[in-house]
Amino acid sequence: MRVVELIERKRDGGKLTPDELGALVLGYTKGDVPDYQMSAFCMAVVWRGMDAAETAALTAAMVRSGERLDLTRFGRVVDKHSTGGVGDKTTLVVAPLVAACGVPVAKMSGRGLGFSGGTLDKLESIRGYRVDPTTDEFLAQLGHIGIVVTGQTADLAPADGKIYALRDTTGTVPAIPLIASSIMSKKIAAGAHAVVLDVKVGRGAFMKDVAQARALARAMVAIGKAHGLAVTCELTDMDQPLGRAVGNSLEIAEAIATLAGKGPPDLVQLTRVAGAEMLLRGRKARDARSAATAIDRALADGSGLAKFRELVAAQGGDVRMIDDPSRLPRAPRVETLLARRSGYVADIAADHIGIASVRLGAGREKKGDPIDHRTGIVLHAKVGDRVERGQPYAEVHVAGRPDDHDAIAMIERAFRWSARRVAPRRLLLGRIAS
Ligand code: URA
Repeated sequence: MRVVELIERKRDGGKLTPDELGALVLGYTKGDVPDYQMSAFCMAVVWRGMDAAETAALTAAMVRSGERLDLTRFGRVVDKHSTGGVGDKTTLVVAPLVAACGVPVAKMSGRGLGFSGGTLDKLESIRGYRVDPTTDEFLAQLGHIGIVVTGQTADLAPADGKIYALRDTTGTVPAIPLIASSIMSKKIAAGAHAVVLDVKVGRGAFMKDVAQARALARAMVAIGKAHGLAVTCELTDMDQPLGRAVGNSLEIAEAIATLAGKGPPDLVQLTRVAGAEMLLRGRKARDARSAATAIDRALADGSGLAKFRELVAAQGGDVRMIDDPSRLPRAPRVETLLARRSGYVADIAADHIGIASVRLGAGREKKGDPIDHRTGIVLHAKVGDRVERGQPYAEVHVAGRPDDHDAIAMIERAFRWSARRVAPRRLLLGRIAS
């Protein structure tokens, strides 16, 4: 294979065969194809795209680059994935609820990068929580308590890890075939039988509009079909942050409150929709209505919260922080933002809130940067809410970093106000399923 010919063909709008894509991915994983050729190839895909057959073949090649877990002995295992957003702690709520309803959940999560938060960082707010069990421990825990939430092992789709790191530094992330194959290769390798994907749409997400999000969802459903994986994509709003808390330990506290039946309406709504779909895909419910009823029951009777506690205990975390969230790491100071005049919240720019949370220390600019689990933002008002003059609309949990002041100014600017009534934002924007 002459790699330059493959790059040129893609550059000129041609198609690559499964064998060619397989050889390219294998060559890159082994180190035979250099970074400069792989990045040129990725850039050609950004401009020229790939058809469904090429995208499926690229995904298959990335899956083959590492091990593929076989979870069949656990019954029908369901996974959940979000394309990333601000304040998105849905996994922490949905995964235990679904497991409490009897569907095994094996979830490999990621870390936050840029202004998107990551489930692993949130879980590490809980003292002692281990995100890196061995594959044997992963499987044993899944068999024992029916839920495991860890980081991705280096053995699953290693080609994706390498290509994604390259894309991150070469301006080649935003290409639907590359994003779809990256996400789906990890899901397929992780061994679940069905996956419910939350495709975020809006200024705090990769996909800025519904048309783009639909195209990504269709590409992922098609890849799932080609690999025998049932896929549902929910398209959900990420113009404003999800829920009220943004920042690691604040989000753990909000997830615990939600599991205790005291969650914010948008997070509860998304939890019910994603949880019910996971039960259906796990074949634990006959229809959408009975699936939603089962999720509501697990919320009301505390079994979801008990399962979350079990998960934390199994992974070495300090369960006293779950029983009493005031024990979670707390920032030394809280600044309260008060409304200068009465009005309705017209907009809360999710990207600006996310960037502000990074400046407060809650997120990382570069892979490997340390984070501060204590800091973040709690929104007292969401789009559509009325706030009276002098009332609080947000609180900012700060740790005394040099950028605190800028971050607070950014949060103030992220809010847009209106004197007239504003409709609450619609959360569910569409669904595409296999
Ligand atoms: N998340 C991934 O895992 N891969 C991408 O390419 C984009 C988002």
